[in-house]
Amino acid sequence: MSGNKPFGHCIDTMKINLSYRGVEQGPIRPPSEAHSLLIRVTRNCPWNQCTFCPLYKDEKFSIRPVEDIKRDIDTIARHIGRLRELAGGTGELAGDAVRRLHAQLEPEEQPGFEAALHWFVGGMESVFLQDANSLVVKPPRLMEILTHLKAHFPGIRRITSYARSQIIAKIEDEELRALREAGLDRLHIGMESGSDTVLQQVKKGATKAIHITAGRKVIQAGMELSEYYMPGLGGQDHSREHALESAAALNQIGPHFIRLRTLAIPRTTALFAAYQAGRFRKCTELMVVAEIRLFLQQLNGIDSMIKSDHSLNLFPTLEGRLPQDKARMLQLLEDFLAAAPERQRLYQIGRRCGLLGQPGDLDNPILSSQVEQVCCSLGVTAANVDPITDALMQRLI
Ligand code: SF4
Repeated sequence: MSGNKPFGHCIDTMKINLSYRGVEQGPIRPPSEAHSLLIRVTRNCPWNQCTFCPLYKDEKFSIRPVEDIKRDIDTIARHIGRLRELAGGTGELAGDAVRRLHAQLEPEEQPGFEAALHWFVGGMESVFLQDANSLVVKPPRLMEILTHLKAHFPGIRRITSYARSQIIAKIEDEELRALREAGLDRLHIGMESGSDTVLQQVKKGATKAIHITAGRKVIQAGMELSEYYMPGLGGQDHSREHALESAAALNQIGPHFIRLRTLAIPRTTALFAAYQAGRFRKCTELMVVAEIRLFLQQLNGIDSMIKSDHSLNLFPTLEGRLPQDKARMLQLLEDFLAAAPERQRLYQIGRRCGLLGQPGDLDNPILSSQVEQVCCSLGVTAANVDPITDALMQRLI
């Protein structure tokens, strides 16, 4: 039997080696993490049931071994070292030299190099832990990863991750504080709605009470909190409740950031099937604007930052700090809702085509004429503007 021991040990080692696929990158990150280094801690989503979400649907969830993640970090550190050498004292990278370095690498090394290059060029300030819910990793293991990251890159200013309220609510306060001390600075939570009706309808797997508990725990642990609200998610039937209850939940949480991410319905989702079958009555774009106005009106007693940094939002400039910027933000919505229908349509189409960034851009005659041409070629009318904007938004999902 003793002869089996080294053989068994070899198999274990092989298993570990075989599980490592090189530096991995997951499919998404929040828009605010565009310059971050992406470190994939888990693969896919452990919940995977939200009816509006097209991500990870046929993908199995797994937690990556800590050793593999550390190897990713070591590899990134090695590439960063090469890039620093290449940049020399100037800190500037010559494109040709980078291309030559890239071409010398084995194919399996290239994703790690590309991740390191992206981070180097972006200033190496922040790291985002992927995928959908890194806090399913046991706190001591997550701390080991955070410590390894900080040891290699002591200059990191921010480490963030997505997390689900359901999981956060179950983590001990001391563990959350320890994660904060180990370097986890900010969590992004997809609250989506504060309405229990809507949350149940879209199978979010959390209630308003759980969202409030989880959000407060994150803040008490000393982390920054970013909560997502999804305008339109209640459909026509629950739009008002969705706005009121979401604002009420956020008023109790007081997150650092409230991020808008307007509903678009990917064709592969259960929500799309409900929409086609008439079980979900989607809001028109004007209804969504009115819903956001109601939502904003109801946000009180908090000093959160409103961010509109998702490409699906109609108004990228609907941003500001509460309470001081509330009136300005509301005015933007009031002005749009009071505008002539023709101007509303032009802005909707212009924004969805990427020609306009704010309603005032329509005062630019060149931009306005370009949008008019697009509307003409698409045959936009009052009756079809919403299906056309829906189709344009599908390209952004
Ligand atoms: S928790 Fe997030 S990633 Fe998972 S199904 Fe829901 S929206 Fe999608």
